[in-house]
Amino acid sequence: MAKLSLRKVAKIYDDGFKAVKNIDLEIEDKEFIVLVGPSGCGKSTTLRMIAGLESISEGELWIGDLRVNNLQPKDRDIAMVFQSYALYPHMNVRDNMGFSLKMNGISKKDRNLRVEQVAEALQLIDLLDKKPGALSGGQRQRVALGRAMVRSPKVFLLDEPLSNLDAKLRVTMRSEITQLHRELGTTFVYVTHDQTEAMTMGTRIAVMNAGRIEQYDTPANLYYNPCNKFVAEFIGSPMINMFNGRLVIKEGKVNLKIADQSFELAEEVKDQLLVEVEDQEVYIGIRPEDMHHKAEGLNTSGLNVIAKNVEQVGSDTFVYFDHPTSSRELVARFSPARPVKIGEGVQVQLDLNKIMLFDQKTEASILNRIVGEDFDK
Ligand code: ATP
Repeated sequence: MAKLSLRKVAKIYDDGFKAVKNIDLEIEDKEFIVLVGPSGCGKSTTLRMIAGLESISEGELWIGDLRVNNLQPKDRDIAMVFQSYALYPHMNVRDNMGFSLKMNGISKKDRNLRVEQVAEALQLIDLLDKKPGALSGGQRQRVALGRAMVRSPKVFLLDEPLSNLDAKLRVTMRSEITQLHRELGTTFVYVTHDQTEAMTMGTRIAVMNAGRIEQYDTPANLYYNPCNKFVAEFIGSPMINMFNGRLVIKEGKVNLKIADQSFELAEEVKDQLLVEVEDQEVYIGIRPEDMHHKAEGLNTSGLNVIAKNVEQVGSDTFVYFDHPTSSRELVARFSPARPVKIGEGVQVQLDLNKIMLFDQKTEASILNRIVGEDFDK
């Protein structure tokens, strides 16, 4: 059993900086957890505290039934894979992979057996006699994974393991690592700043910001039911659109005002409201795929915008535009069936069932949207 439990864990560095602020995180046995967030939010610090490479300033870390705050890294039954691979350049692949076994006094025969077993699983058999300098980035990364695997640890910690690889190889390695996770049936904790990597790999994802966990949830919930504006904007590519708007209550109806246009709040969304709404300022979030190119002659209101930039990417067309209620450029994902030209005026129709609403003061979501199971792995 390798359930991991962080209870009110904090990290205060020697200079007094609090890099991790009292986080709670329960990681079940065999889960694939991703810590994701912008640079400097405390992901690596959290991972290094789990590994024992950084002391825990406050709070408790439990692995299974054992409180491990003061346990040495080597006694935690955890293996860590770094972004830099950290391979020994003068040793061949076989010796790199077998190094920790050698340190633990395992005989040469048993070492070789285990290394070959793991090399087989990772398709490294033909490379066992090569030095790291003669390997490609992807192969080095596989050796680093292999070196962690030979010890059969209870928990794998991976710190941005793919960031040195080119885009194509990253995609291949992503699925190799998730497949490896399924085969090994071990707990994985994976750090990345790349939300696509997080969304495609994690069974659950902790979105971190400035030393705190904003939301710890399934990929589907993070995407469709983000708890605040930060999570809504961090998850999803291109980024969610955010309008400054207003909720206006009129004769029992809730209307949504965006600039001088008014839309009635959909019944479905009304049912999801977490609070009794009043006339109030809100941020209205809507994902690019929920903004449609309004068909000619259709008699529903949409936003009139000018296409500032148009990107054709095969099956989709991304149309970028400005709007007076948003400080940043907005984007709609249209089907390429009817092409749009730069400078053309277009009517963008909002799918009002899909909008998200955030309080302008707290930035917390004021909706609770129940997400179906289908999206999750
Ligand atoms: P990145 O994606 O850039 O690696 P991260 O989310 O992993 O970022 P950490 O490396 O955990 O962030 O760092 C969190 C914060 O703690 C940062 O502001 C960093 O500057 C600070 N920090 C890290 N190590 C130390 C240290 N030894 N002393 C003081 N502050 C530190």
